[in-house]
Amino acid sequence: MEIVDHPREMQEVALAWRQQHQTISFVPTMGYFHEGHLSLMRYGRKQGDRLVVSLFVNPTQFGPGEDLDRYPRDPERDAALAREVGVDVLYTPTAAQMYPEGYQTYVTVEEVSRGLCGATRPGHFRGVATVVLKLFNQVLPHLAVFGEKDYQQLAVIKRMVSDLDMPVEVVGRPIVREADGLAMSSRNTYLNPKERRAALGLFKALTWAKDAAASGENQADKIVPEVIQTIKSAPHTRLDYAVLVDPDTLQSVDTVQGSARLAVAAWVGDTRLIDNMLLEVP
Ligand code: AMP
Repeated sequence: MEIVDHPREMQEVALAWRQQHQTISFVPTMGYFHEGHLSLMRYGRKQGDRLVVSLFVNPTQFGPGEDLDRYPRDPERDAALAREVGVDVLYTPTAAQMYPEGYQTYVTVEEVSRGLCGATRPGHFRGVATVVLKLFNQVLPHLAVFGEKDYQQLAVIKRMVSDLDMPVEVVGRPIVREADGLAMSSRNTYLNPKERRAALGLFKALTWAKDAAASGENQADKIVPEVIQTIKSAPHTRLDYAVLVDPDTLQSVDTVQGSARLAVAAWVGDTRLIDNMLLEVP
């Protein structure tokens, strides 16, 4: 595995592969790898001749007062795990290389970025779309793999790629969970033992809703209030949102027509957690 830390060098490596007609899979990450990240890498490994994983804690997607400075980092462990999975290039640019002095170009994906996390984290998806577009231009992937854990992020990227005619296939992969159901996240490391137990409220609420839908309940006004109640009643927990949305547009729906995504976010202690689940009504 090679570690590349300069955008120009990354692009040269990618161009050389393309000249040899090799296909490139790409997994963008902020590091501190867990099984969720590794599952995306294993998928990308199978799909392409070459696999690039980026590790970049992107400052432009963090708002003032968010956790940019204390975001968990362990580059050596990450490199060892990436090597084990068979990553060809671990791409680790610095903020100064990504946003040199004078930088002033940003991408806004309008509608899809607006609700859910976009409402609580203004500017977040502008930062995400911008960095992903830059990374795509540097890594030149044929395939880019994202987790459904960040469901709105996936929808924003798909929309951007479609709107801007970018020659990349974007694939979303299932959420990897801890044994008890908590969605894996680098931010779970912030939770103390009491908060870690409380954090299960999100998964409990989502699985209740999934079961209700599977039993034929298709009305948002029957499902969502119960989900809200379940999350709010967990200790140390403050609800941000619980919304039933169309899987593509992320517009909220009143009725589950076949399937819909239930997306939730809450602070457990000071840690903001997100999760979501596909609801299917038979
Ligand atoms: P992050 O490093 O948190 O920015 O995440 C990098 C990629 O891993 C994103 O596409 C995430 O959606 C994905 N990811 C994070 N957690 C999980 C998980 N528990 N299961 C599947 N994918 C995940």
